[in-house]
Amino acid sequence: MAQQLVSKMDNWQELEHKLYMQTFKRVPVTLVRGQGARVWDSDGKEYLDFVAGWAVNSLGHCHPAVVEALKEQAQTLIQASNQFYTIPQIQLAELLVHNSCLDRVFFCNSGTEANEGAIKLARRYGSLHLKGAYEIITTRDSFHGRTLAMVAATGQDKFQQPYVPLPGGFINVDYNNAERIRAATTSQTCAVMVEPIQGEGGVNVPDDDYLKEIRAWCDEKGILLVFDEVQTAIGRTGTLFAYEQFGVEPDIMTLAKGLGSGVPIGAFLAKERASVFAAGEHGATFGGNPLVCAAGLAALKFIIDNDIPGKARQVGRYFVSGLEKLKAKFGFIAEVRGRGLLLALGFTGDIAEDVVLACLKEGLLVNRVKPNALRFMPPLIITEKDVDEALDILEVVFDRRLGNGG
Ligand SMILES: *Cc1c(COP(=O)(O)O)cnc(C)c1O
Repeated sequence: MAQQLVSKMDNWQELEHKLYMQTFKRVPVTLVRGQGARVWDSDGKEYLDFVAGWAVNSLGHCHPAVVEALKEQAQTLIQASNQFYTIPQIQLAELLVHNSCLDRVFFCNSGTEANEGAIKLARRYGSLHLKGAYEIITTRDSFHGRTLAMVAATGQDKFQQPYVPLPGGFINVDYNNAERIRAATTSQTCAVMVEPIQGEGGVNVPDDDYLKEIRAWCDEKGILLVFDEVQTAIGRTGTLFAYEQFGVEPDIMTLAKGLGSGVPIGAFLAKERASVFAAGEHGATFGGNPLVCAAGLAALKFIIDNDIPGKARQVGRYFVSGLEKLKAKFGFIAEVRGRGLLLALGFTGDIAEDVVLACLKEGLLVNRVKPNALRFMPPLIITEKDVDEALDILEVVFDRRLGNGG
């Protein structure tokens, strides 16, 4: 039954193939409804969702706090433009500033846009305080977004090659090696931008001292440190912001994915001394509108008031111990890595695609982050029972592989 449902091509998928630009390699499921950590497809089949809108639905699908805030705001004021003051925007800014090491906020609509804004801010800082320095050092295997500038920032050939020539001013160096950053720094460098843990690059956790060494170097050179926390923040890695775990504060930080628990919102924040934009130097039509900010406010308030980051840390540890048991049993599992509920399972071979499809049949949604690695980014509200269910499915799928000779 399950097998038949997965292989069946519904009309929506045929239509998509005809109408939509074929740039997403989708798995053959059409989702129509979600609640908590569960989603349902167009045939009514239920799945345990460990993708969560790509690490976006931090409180799960259709969390009542978010739904209520959206309903209320939708019948009050949806969009007003930034020519005017609006209250949800200021409330969300206040909550972010009070709970982070940063002093000021700017809201936009996505992670890419947040990073673009952060880079513009760093360049503006360079033009005002660093004799026009404009270069940004970023790392290989990073992911910073899809605009041309963020593709240049993203140190992965496959994203860059189709679009050369790219905007200049970005230097990509190896991750988890502070010496490479020191060696790449010139009088033209205005900032270093890194993910505290690389997400799209495969869930790569750096050594304990890496971010501290970069911080010390940026201080020595008077350049800015930008953390792209689009994926790692809002409790995902077990603290509200990942920087808290490394004992390092950035000068600029970007947010998006988990911030609105499903609504499209991005933000960049900066320390006062780095908040150098003057009137008219940056903007956004939709950015920070009352609708998304009301949702973001409700989500973030719930996350903070209920210590969701602490819960993610706890259930994440439980998940890791279960994954370690699978690793002990199956020789083709090479590694368990990640923090909180941003976790990955590395394999000795390129089997992740097959595993994703096999899990799908069994009712579990997971992500193939690399040909040889699965990523788990479930809602932060999952329980140990949900984790047990996912582990059981993984074990069934892996047992079957073993039966077939690995
Ligand atoms: C997803 C992601 C982005 C891009 O965010 P979009 O909302 O897709 O533009 C940027 N940086 C990191 C670290 C991400 O994980």
